[in-house]
Amino acid sequence: MEFERPGIIRPPSEHASYFLPLTSGCSNNTCTFCGYYGSKLKIREVDDVKAEIDAMALYLERGVQIPTMPSIVYAVLRSWDGRRVFLQDGDALVYPFDRLRRVLEYLSEKFPNLERIGSYGTPQDILRSSLDGLRTLGELKLGIVYMGVESGDDRVLQKVGKGVNHEQLVEAGRKAKKAGIMLSVTVILGLGGTDGSDEHALETARVLTEIDPEYAGALTLTLVPGTPLHEEWRRGDFSLITPFDSLRELKTIVENSDFTDCFFSSMHASNYYSVRGRLPLEKARVVGELEDILARRDPELLRPELFRGL
Ligand code: SF4
Repeated sequence: MEFERPGIIRPPSEHASYFLPLTSGCSNNTCTFCGYYGSKLKIREVDDVKAEIDAMALYLERGVQIPTMPSIVYAVLRSWDGRRVFLQDGDALVYPFDRLRRVLEYLSEKFPNLERIGSYGTPQDILRSSLDGLRTLGELKLGIVYMGVESGDDRVLQKVGKGVNHEQLVEAGRKAKKAGIMLSVTVILGLGGTDGSDEHALETARVLTEIDPEYAGALTLTLVPGTPLHEEWRRGDFSLITPFDSLRELKTIVENSDFTDCFFSSMHASNYYSVRGRLPLEKARVVGELEDILARRDPELLRPELFRGL
């Protein structure tokens, strides 16, 4: 079956990257809150990926476009600075190791000045990879893996179908770091609903502390129509926390986490309020900012619902 190029879903920090699809969908398509729920994983042929890399090089060296290449290739290349590549899609780290190695080698061969390759990876992808395999990928410029942690609370993880528990999240995160690959993780405010809010925030702080990633980002739960969690909410079986309660969760996470040196942010468009800072260095300032917002409880200070994004 012909590989269908996925739409671009990427971490904010990859805005200047070239987006190279290796897969479409996600191999762990069971998370009840996620737009990839139920998606069918498709794996692209290596030769097809290499043909796209050839087309990239041809365009950058000689300005020649290949008519059969999708226009998005050239649209992205026009503003690409040649430094970073982001491998699509939901978890490109599931791409079979040998093929992934060949793609990374080919990228470096064609673009020797490439600085970093990034990819989403599920904890399952990391756990099933060998440490040596991950190290090899790191040596081939896979410099950062973005892993969804979502929550540190086992009850929440199980309820939303994450497919791993707290302990496995920690094992996966530490393994990527041990392999020399930078780790950026995301957690989701509100994923425990109103009933599980406190436990979700505290356990999330604990899992983040234990993983100790270089980057951590908080998102706020946004229900996606068509997903099981949206359906639960519609039936009245799941209650969304309020915007101010999402900031209370955020404060609990920042306050209770203990990092070596982590850039923490809630800059994602799904959040009602953005904070950022190096932790633990700027912990007092970040917590103070959140305490201030929580004390004032002024809705004007929050991102309007209309401007929130996924
Ligand atoms: S593993 Fe990540 S991308 Fe895949 S369904 Fe779960 S949250 Fe979505």
